[in-house]
Amino acid sequence: MSPAVEAEIKNHLLKCDDCRVVQEAATTTLDREFGTYKASENRPSLRPVIQAA
Ligand SMILES: [Zn+2]
Repeated sequence: MSPAVEAEIKNHLLKCDDCRVVQEAATTTLDREFGTYKASENRPSLRPVIQAA
């Protein structure tokens, strides 16, 4: 995600309670999944996948 887009989303979230609720729910889910993912120590294998895309 580009910094400009990220800034726009954050700016929108400041004004929009609905999106903020959705975003917080998504962040919580991601934290949980990445916590599990890190524990499996497979993270370096993500890099080649991203570069190929
Ligand atoms: Zn919104």
